[in-house]
Amino acid sequence: MSTPPAYDLPLRRSTGTLDRALHGARHIAYWLDSAERPAALAPLSDDLVADLTVVGGGYCGLWSALLAKERNPELDVVIVEGREVGWAASGRNGGFVEASLTHGPENGERYFSSELEALDRLGHDNWREFADDIHRHGIEAEYENGGVITVATEPHQVPWLEALAGPQKEFLDQEALAGHVMSPLFRAGVHDKEGALVNPAKLAWGLKRVCLEKGVRIFENSPVKGLSRQGEHVSAHTPGGSVQASQVILATNGFPSLLFRNKLRTIPVYDYALMTEPLTDDQLQAIGWTERFGLTDMSRQFHYYRKSVDNRILWGGYDAVYHRGGRIKPEYDIRKETFLRLADHFMDTFPQLPDITFTHAWGGMIDMSSRLVAFHGTAIGGKVAYSSGFTGLGVAATRFAAKAMLDLLDGADTEITRTKLVRTKPLPLPPEPIASASVGIIRRAVAQSDRNGGRDGTILKLANALGYSFDT
Ligand SMILES: Cc1cc2nc3c(=O)[nH]c(=O)nc-3n(C[C@H](O)[C@H](O)[C@H](O)COP(=O)(O)OP(=O)(O)OC[C@H]3O[C@@H](n4cnc5c(N)ncnc54)[C@H](O)[C@@H]3O)c2cc1C
Repeated sequence: MSTPPAYDLPLRRSTGTLDRALHGARHIAYWLDSAERPAALAPLSDDLVADLTVVGGGYCGLWSALLAKERNPELDVVIVEGREVGWAASGRNGGFVEASLTHGPENGERYFSSELEALDRLGHDNWREFADDIHRHGIEAEYENGGVITVATEPHQVPWLEALAGPQKEFLDQEALAGHVMSPLFRAGVHDKEGALVNPAKLAWGLKRVCLEKGVRIFENSPVKGLSRQGEHVSAHTPGGSVQASQVILATNGFPSLLFRNKLRTIPVYDYALMTEPLTDDQLQAIGWTERFGLTDMSRQFHYYRKSVDNRILWGGYDAVYHRGGRIKPEYDIRKETFLRLADHFMDTFPQLPDITFTHAWGGMIDMSSRLVAFHGTAIGGKVAYSSGFTGLGVAATRFAAKAMLDLLDGADTEITRTKLVRTKPLPLPPEPIASASVGIIRRAVAQSDRNGGRDGTILKLANALGYSFDT
């Protein structure tokens, strides 16, 4: 396995101390390590005919199938999943449900300034519908609507936060912030009331259940190896059989695209997270975090953290690791140097918890695109629709992508299909060997920018001028 270089400052604690905290941590996403994980359904073993084939059983594919059935209950929909529903990013993410379709206002201003207001509205509608749907369908995904507090950990970030404040976003100075959560690193915060949290795997499993109840046929352990067109139909071929349908949705995230045109539009980047043991009431009091909300910081290499329903803390982010050749391998889900660094950062943030131990440590692949937001489109004579490139912010945005793909397949002229977000594509990412070299250079530049009062150096300015966006 190639070991990408570390770009960071040395650890502040001995590896012995950090190893002790991580000793016994299971290398599986906490959310997937559950007795509620449903058994896999049978693989495809026949040649079927349907109206709509959905390739991929993460959120994007599940929402696509569900919303297609809700638009037309007669539609015969089949999901073909290469492994298990929800095993990938959808079952192992931070569970932050954010409304933004543009990866935040700054990135939105950069690429979609002429339609930012409409995209914000569409994002908020989608965010509300997301909550309505999971409640309407009785999906027990531990949905919590306490918002997300973004904190400044460096002086230069405080004015950035002040600029972010607005009607739904309350600015908290250091003292006010300490009323919600206490860390010696925190200087100020903004509490965005329109953020929510879910148990990610339970959301995927709940969507699976609802799809099945609506009559969607789901086949697991059935990787689609290729698509072929026969007149008005497109067949998706797996080792055990095929599905022929008049329409296909590709919801395959950053896994190798079945369409040549999309092969350079995303790169797989690995993100990592730790989960602590459940905190006692005394431990929660010590950090002052007794309410229910998620936390994230303002750095480009940011952390995200939130409590589970049983008061564990999920602590993730910071490192974003690309492997040469854009390879995706199970062994990349485990990265000891990142786990040590995350544990070290946790202890810097909450020194009130010196004896904390972590029960889980895992990683997952994110589909990074050069605009940091998903792109959408059609291929094969408008019969195949695709969405990919969520860049680590896909819990709610995949539901919007499902709506966009269904509108595109219908050939409908809707507010969604008229947006630049849906009509235009991001710049392709460079092929190897330029990809590995560029990612290394950019990672160093991003780390440098965080240490340099948030100012971009020449490399990031150049990359930005060329139309590429970067953060973790
Ligand atoms: C560690 C981590 C933390 C994250 N935290 C957050 C967060 O807090 N908030 C947020 O909004 N987003 C977060 N994300 C991102 C979010 O999880 C994803 O954007 C979202 O889950 C993407 O859903 P998806 O359905 O597109 O992809 P996936 O969940 O990856 O599903 C794609 C599915 O397609 C299947 N597939 C691929 N190719 C084929 C094929 N050829 N044939 C059949 N099946 C195929 C795969 O097996 C997989 O099951 C995080 C991601 C990670 C990894």
